[in-house]
Amino acid sequence: MFVKVFEGLYGFIWEDYSQNNCNTYFIDSYKKVLIDPGHAHLFGHVERGLATLGITPRGIDIVLATHGHPDHIESVLLFKEPTKFTMDRKEYDYIIDLAGGYYKIPEPDFFLQPGELIFGDDRFEVIETPGHTPGSVCLYWPSNKALFTGDLVFQQGIGRTDLPGGSGPELKKSIEKIMNLDADYILSGHGGIVAGKEAVRENFRIIRDQWFRYL
Ligand SMILES: [Zn+2]
Repeated sequence: MFVKVFEGLYGFIWEDYSQNNCNTYFIDSYKKVLIDPGHAHLFGHVERGLATLGITPRGIDIVLATHGHPDHIESVLLFKEPTKFTMDRKEYDYIIDLAGGYYKIPEPDFFLQPGELIFGDDRFEVIETPGHTPGSVCLYWPSNKALFTGDLVFQQGIGRTDLPGGSGPELKKSIEKIMNLDADYILSGHGGIVAGKEAVRENFRIIRDQWFRYL
C-alpha cells in the first residue's frame, strides 16, 4: 500500500489505473509534509497508511500541491487547522479562474515561492515548471537528492500538455530545467518511483530521446 523510500520519506504509490488518482508522498522530518493528497474519495488509502505510522490527518503540518488538478489536490478539503496548505500562486489563480465556480479548493495559508523553502532544518527548492499546467512546480530536496516532479515527468514518460493551460514547448523547457539536477530519486505524480542515480539519468535520457521531438 505504501513504501518507505528512505528514512523520512514514504510513497503512497497508486497502482490501480482504473481510478484516476495520483501518488502521494509523506515527508516525516522536521515538518510532516504531505505532497499531493489526491482525490477525496480515494484518500482512505493514504489515511490508513498514515495511521500505521501513528499519524492522523491533524498531525500533518503542511499539505503541498504540485499543481491544481483534482486528482492531486481535492483531498486538501479534508484537512483543517492546524494543517497548513500551500501551492503556487499562479496555479491557484489559474485554477480558480478556470473552474472556481464548481471546483472548490481552500485558499492557501501561504503561497510557494520559487527558490528556497525551509521547513525546520530541511531545505527544499521550489522550481517553477510550467507545461502540464501554467503554475506546476517541482520540489527538490538536495540533502536526499530527491526530486518530486508532479505531472511534469514520470517513469519513462511525460505529463499531458493537451489539457487547458498546457504547453509542449513550456514542458520541454521545464524538463531541461530539472534534468541535470543531482537526483537519486524521481518521485512523480503517477507511475513508479525511479530510484538510483543511473536510473534517474537513464529516465531523462529516454524522455529526451523519445519525447522531446513531440514537444
Ligand atoms: Zn495533472
